Amino acid sequence: MKRRTFLNTLGAASATSVLVGAEAPKALRTLDTDVLIIGGGTAGTIAAVQAGRLGARTILVESGSQLGGTTTTAGVDFPGLFHAWGKQVIAGIGWELVTAAVKLNDDDLPDFTKPTGTQHWRHQVKISGQLYAALAEEACVKAGVQLRYYEFPETVAPTASGWRVRLVGKGTSVQVTAKQLVDCTGNAAVVGLIGLPRLREKVAQPGTLIYRLGGWDAATVDMNALQAQANAAIKSGALLSTDIRGNIAGFLRNGGENAMHVPGADSSTSEAHTATNILGRQSVLRVLRFLKQEPAFALVKVERLQAETGVRETFRTVGEATVSVDDYQTGRIFPDAVAHSFYPIDLHVDGSIVPKHLKEGVVPTIPLGALIPKSSRNLMVAGRCLSSDRLANSALRVQASCMAMGQAAGVTAALAARAGTTPLRMPLVNIRRELALHGAIVPKTD
Ligand SMILES: Cc1cc2nc3c(=O)[nH]c(=O)nc-3n(C[C@H](O)[C@H](O)[C@H](O)COP(=O)(O)OP(=O)(O)OC[C@H]3O[C@@H](n4cnc5c(N)ncnc54)[C@H](O)[C@@H]3O)c2cc1C
Repeated sequence: MKRRTFLNTLGAASATSVLVGAEAPKALRTLDTDVLIIGGGTAGTIAAVQAGRLGARTILVESGSQLGGTTTTAGVDFPGLFHAWGKQVIAGIGWELVTAAVKLNDDDLPDFTKPTGTQHWRHQVKISGQLYAALAEEACVKAGVQLRYYEFPETVAPTASGWRVRLVGKGTSVQVTAKQLVDCTGNAAVVGLIGLPRLREKVAQPGTLIYRLGGWDAATVDMNALQAQANAAIKSGALLSTDIRGNIAGFLRNGGENAMHVPGADSSTSEAHTATNILGRQSVLRVLRFLKQEPAFALVKVERLQAETGVRETFRTVGEATVSVDDYQTGRIFPDAVAHSFYPIDLHVDGSIVPKHLKEGVVPTIPLGALIPKSSRNLMVAGRCLSSDRLANSALRVQASCMAMGQAAGVTAALAARAGTTPLRMPLVNIRRELALHGAIVPKTD
């Protein structure tokens, strides 16, 4: 390059660009809040809106790019169950946002008056996940919640009156002092950072990458022949049995949606979650390539493919109370019940799922104690990592229940911050009153 041209180029660069060299270290930015919620998923979003609506200064930290977690990013956009035996048992902020998404998209609610028998999923509400995420975000902003995407806690330390939490993210590192901390990470990640006990199974339930295929005419497919081809592909290693859960006709019935398993799925560390996402996407590619070579599927295409493999099970916490499968199946009314839950026992193991339905009339409850890690102060959990045994957890983990837990945690944390006390010391009567005032259905305990 000629010297003149080079200088001209430099001149052009200096007019539009700023050269940034090594920056002097800045003082660590500090934030102060009443309630700090980690994890803006199914439960955490509701907890944040609730705490904000109660006037608590609330920060919601989400490591991803949007709210809703498994409901939105993992595409489990069919939350349930809000109704049991012909009446609504869970309402409040979760229900408000779910029905707002249905209304804005001109979608339909199921007919909740029609009994479902063993087809409980008929009462789940089909929503647009991404629309739900936008509405949830709007509700947070309106409630005055400070949203912090792409961040996660690096260290968590107790102080005399709460917590000091170091958050890191893309180009950010801040220190937050908070009166109350709520772990809604689905993995009890904060509880783990603090060093309190967590439980996990040696072999967790499989995950599922939600995707849907289209572009074939089922009437032209010889399913027996296709199953034989699939069996051969599984034998040769071109397909894994879990890609189609062994049954190609069953897999194709709903375009493959929610019909595959990712064994060993784990979202509790970035490394494990990365591997889980890769395994999920590899499965999609295997199935697509297998189908493409079949004449009836020459035009097969991907209609939907989520950004993240949904993970069903990682850590559970050990709380002041623990919900057992017996409590769940007998519909025990806990003395400190703050919400209902309703779902069959639903453990996904060994490639099979055998839902065990509740007896007619049974509506289980969720005790506040299951949301408070044992011997902790100023700390709560909400969502699938509540304190419960494995079988009870397989039902408690569903979305309407997680939303109800989120609201209960949001109320309790906000009231405890205001009163300068710890969640376990908050009078139940106050928690229940605020929950009811904010539209939640509170179980009768007398
Ligand atoms: C494939 C599949 C099918 C399912 N089917 C149904 C169904 O039919 N009906 C039903 O109701 N439920 C169903 N469930 C269960 C239900 O969707 C989940 O159990 C529930 O959504 C979990 O909610 P959560 O709030 O505990 O966690 P999540 O919704 O997963 O939220 C956790 C959030 O925390 C964030 N996070 C995690 N770690 C950190 C960190 N360190 N820092 C900051 N943020 C963090 C995550 O990014 C995420 O947004 C299904 C689940 C799966 C995976």
